[in-house]
Formats: sequence, structure tokens, C-alpha cells
Amino acid sequence: MKTNILAFWRKNSQDMFRLTQFRLTALYSGMLMVFLTLFIVIVYSLLYIIITHDQERRVNSLADQERKAIEDILAQQTLLDFLDNQNVVFLSEDQFFFYVVNPRGELIMGDEVNRGVRPALLAALQEWTPNEKELKYIDVSLPSRQHEFSRFRSLELRLLAAARPIIVHNQLVGVLYVGMDTTTFSRLFKWLWMIFIGLAVLFIGVAVLLSHFMSKRALVPIQEAYNRQREFVANASHELRTPLSVIFSSVEALEMDEEVKVSEFSQKVMHRLREEVKRMTKLINDLLTLARSDSEHAFLEIVKEPFDFRPHAERTIQVLKELADKKDIHLHFDSPESVVGSGDADKLTQLLYILLDNAIKYTPNGGHVSLSLRVELYKQHQLLVISVKDTGIGIAPEDIGRIFDRFYRADKARTRQHGGHGLGLSIAKWIVDAHQGTIHVQSEVAKGTEFIVKIPF
Ligand code: ATP
Ligand code: MG
Repeated sequence: MKTNILAFWRKNSQDMFRLTQFRLTALYSGMLMVFLTLFIVIVYSLLYIIITHDQERRVNSLADQERKAIEDILAQQTLLDFLDNQNVVFLSEDQFFFYVVNPRGELIMGDEVNRGVRPALLAALQEWTPNEKELKYIDVSLPSRQHEFSRFRSLELRLLAAARPIIVHNQLVGVLYVGMDTTTFSRLFKWLWMIFIGLAVLFIGVAVLLSHFMSKRALVPIQEAYNRQREFVANASHELRTPLSVIFSSVEALEMDEEVKVSEFSQKVMHRLREEVKRMTKLINDLLTLARSDSEHAFLEIVKEPFDFRPHAERTIQVLKELADKKDIHLHFDSPESVVGSGDADKLTQLLYILLDNAIKYTPNGGHVSLSLRVELYKQHQLLVISVKDTGIGIAPEDIGRIFDRFYRADKARTRQHGGHGLGLSIAKWIVDAHQGTIHVQSEVAKGTEFIVKIPF
């Protein structure tokens, strides 16, 4: 199975803390927002339900009282009398109108607070065939001349209407419509809604700020502990370098010694000692590099200057040739005459060394390793493209995502025999990130692996 992976920016420690802080902020403020939204929705709904319910109850009781009053009047009077009595029936302060419409659709009795809306109201009511106790909201607008609030704007009214049949002497005389003015409430709710939204936005802003602040504070001790740890590793590695180099030169001096030279056993021990010291020196150097890469000033470690990469690559190949020859591995190199661009020459060479070293290490005897360099133009930027391809053991898909982790080795038994610590690719990744580049891996188990690095050059 062929696996392809795009390794994105590795999160260095700074990014990691920033990401954690961002996540914590999002979590805290998300929770606050949920509570706030719930609170607003519940309070608003409760208010709405209670007030609407109360209004409906009032308009219903108004309709019942009114119906009784009108039926009483009609029962006691002749039609002529009642025509004079049109204005008697206004029972409540917020009542806006009452109309009695006979079965033929003619208005036989009625009044309203404002005469101007009568045609609109009657038209709206005429369309309505109410069921028992059914209520209806009617929106009418009062032309500007007819109200005192504003001389230019028409006033929108929201009325709640109820209807009752008027029955006199067991005969249906007509339908009574009564309406209450609920404009104030509907306007109040509109305002309330806006106020709530405004408050919500304000509180959410405060919540985000507060969570940001709190998560920052929560991370301070962790960050401090992390920094101490990093400094400790950096200092320890640094301190270990001097004694190690002393040991190394002592071993070399001992190897020269005549007495050691004659004893096969001593030679063997010296050789093992020398290899282990070399291995340890590499480990210490790698640890130091990574500890530095974690620091806030990691960018200072990278010095970008214009240079030609080709000679560096040739030298690296030269250095590794011995290793390749030992395993009878063919090294191929493909590059233009010059690969000129800007970057940290030492770090990029180290990157190349790490990739080639792996390719040779993880390729069986007689295999092929090829390095290709080229410069590409991408969106008006120059990209250095490094490809290191081998015909080696390959990397299993489940390992590919982790090979850039520190101390991660895909096949522990096999890699121990190669003497690796699993730090090479972590350093490679850091170098790529520090150059704002990307690194891709393409691998097939038992067939081979290709690392493709793209770096703005
Ligand atoms: P170090 O580089 O520190 O000496 P290492 O080579 O084991 O040790 P990395 O270079 O970080 O560590 O590589 C991590 C792991 O990825 C290796 O142990 C190996 O399993 C796998 N790997 C890396 N490159 C290749 C490759 N070209 N082919 C197959 N496996 C590879
Ligand atoms: Mg390696």
C-alpha cells in the first residue's frame, strides 16, 4: 500500500502554547456563550409566554363581557334605539375597537379609538372566520395625520382581536369583534430582543476577553515548568559535550599506544568505546539542537544568506559515500550547475545529511539512493525542492504520521542495530519549519521511500 502524507507545520513549543491557549479560550467562552444564550432564550420565552397569555385572557374576558352587555342592550331595545346607543360599549382602557357585523356583512354597531383605521380593520376582520375562542393579531397602520406621535411616520398598530356571536331571542343577530391595543407590548418585545442581542454581544466580547486572560494565566506555570525543563536539557547537553570530547580524544590517544595496538582485545574494546562515544556525542548534539529549537529565540539559530547549495550537497554526499560503499549502495545525484538561493546553508546541509543518512541506513545492501535538487517557481516565489529517494525497507502507513516525533523509531529492533535515536527527522522537521517550508513523505513498505522538501529559497 502506498501512503502519502503531507506534514504540515510542526507545532513548536510556542505554537503549542498558543494553540492550547486558543483552545482553552474557545472552550471557556463557548461554555459561557451557551449559558448566556440559554439564559436569554429562557427569560425571553418566559416573559413572552406570560405576557401573551395574560393579554389573550384579557381580550377573551373583554369579549365575553362585551357580548353580554350588547346582548342585554339589544334584548331590551328596538333596533331604532340601539342605533342611538352606538357608543355605549367600551369596557376597558386598552380596548381599541368593537364592531358588530350582521350576517350580511354590514356593520350594525361599533366604535374605535381612531376612526381612520376602520376600513382597514373591517377589511381584515371580514376575511376572518373565527373558530370558537380563536384570537387574531391584526396589524394596521395609522397614517401620520391621525396620531400625535410623529408628524411624518405612520404609526404601526398591533391589535389582538376576539370574536363572539351575538344571539338575541335565540336568533343570531351578528358577530361581535373586539380588539385590544397590544402595540406597546409588541414594541417592548422587539426592543427587548434587541437589548438582549446587544447585551449578548457585549457579554460574549467580555467572555472572550476574560477567557483569554484566564487561559493565559492558567498556562503561565506550565510554560515556566516547560522552559525550566528545556533549559535543563540544553544546559545538560552543553555540559556533557566537553567531557565527551575529552574522552574521545583520550580514546584516540590510547588507540595510538603501542601496548594497545598489540593486544587484540584492547583494540576491540577501544573500538567499541570509540563508537559509543561517537554515538553519544551525536545524541548530545541532537538534544542540544532540539532544546535550542524549542526556545523562544529559536529563530536566531537560523541565519539566512544567499548561497549555492550544490557544493554543500556534493560535500555531504562525499561524507556519506563511505557509509554507502560499505553497503554497496549506489548514490545518484541530480542537480543543475548551481542551486542559488537564500537560506541557512549549515542547517540545510544538516537536513540533507539527515535525509541521506536515513536513506542509506534503511536501504538494504545493493540498493539505490538518489538525491535530486531543483529550483521551482511557485506563485512568483523561488522554491528549493529536495528529493531524497531510496529503494529501502519503506515505512508502514501507521508509522508515517509519527516518524517526525522525537525518539520515534518505526522498527525499534532494526533501528537499534543501526544505532539511531529517532531524533534525526525531528531536527529535519524543525529546519524545514524554520524556513517556512513543507516536508512530504511517500513510502511503500519493502519498496522504498521518498522525502520531498520544499523551501522558499
Ligand atoms: P537518528 O536519526 O536520530 O540517528 P533514526 O534514524 O532512527 O535515528 P529518524 O531519522 O528521526 O531517527 O527517523 C525516525 C524513524 O523513521 C527511523 O527510526 C525509521 O524507522 C524511519 N525512517 C526514516 N527514514 C526512513 C527511510 N528512508 N526508510 C525507512 N524508514 C525510515
Ligand atoms: Mg535518522
